[in-house]
Amino acid sequence: MNYRHGYHAGNFADVVKHITLVAILDYLKKKDTAFSVIDTHAGRGIYDLAGEQAVKTGEAQNGIATLRGLSGGGSLETYLKLAGGKRYPGSPLIAAQLIRTQDRLVAIEKHPEEFAILAETLTPFRSATAEQADGYARLLKLLPPPSRRGLVLIDPPFEATDEFEQLALTLRAAVAKFANGVYLVWYPVKSEAQANGFLGEVLALGDVTKALTIDTAIAVPDGKMGHAGLLVINPPYGLAAQMREVAQTIAPRLGADIRVTWIAGSE
Ligand code: SAM
Repeated sequence: MNYRHGYHAGNFADVVKHITLVAILDYLKKKDTAFSVIDTHAGRGIYDLAGEQAVKTGEAQNGIATLRGLSGGGSLETYLKLAGGKRYPGSPLIAAQLIRTQDRLVAIEKHPEEFAILAETLTPFRSATAEQADGYARLLKLLPPPSRRGLVLIDPPFEATDEFEQLALTLRAAVAKFANGVYLVWYPVKSEAQANGFLGEVLALGDVTKALTIDTAIAVPDGKMGHAGLLVINPPYGLAAQMREVAQTIAPRLGADIRVTWIAGSE
């Protein structure tokens, strides 16, 4: 467990992932009925963009920093307001700030130091709980959530060589327990074949009838990660169109190619 998200916070992949997260939460909030958010690999929740880790890689410079001064409506604007400062919010802090009193967030983090900061970061939020555990195992215990509505965010570090396999297995079990949940899954695209293999495995489950991908690629020096994907299972109505519109606004700033593609079903 060497991965520390502090080196990558606010990079191009975080930007697209976190705007998508905000868009999904905005949709879930359209109904008064309570919903749950389970963030299986939560990280510490808050990152200092002027700190040693962020400065060392400079990844935020090609990410959130390119969006400074941008204005956009709806979920993009909400994201820009939350992420506009020197301290960049991770997924659990974004969710904690956006959910309502009736909603619940469970943020799971395995690493002891990251967990300690996560727990402190979420302390002011009564609807949020931090748990130190293995995100995959804990997720299956938490499903289905009592509200029977909600979002599962799975954002692993991809340090383990079998991460894609573990992810596909967990998704299979999770969708079987909570079929109508929205799932937002982040993955690196180191090779198209590997990413497509993973997506093929997820679709082969049969239980997944609606899914889209949001694929983002930026030009980076050799050896650096410049291509990432998001898989959204059961995307909320309108998310694909909304993210295509967001892409038109942010892609030129990020210098990115962003593609939104239905891989199962359609609107
Ligand atoms: N989701 C966060 C965000 O968007 O702000 C970033 C998460 S980062 C990519 C992955 C996190 O997963 C790291 O903080 C790492 O310590 C943690 N982690 C690694 N293995 C884990 C496991 N088995 N269960 C839960 N967390 C784990």
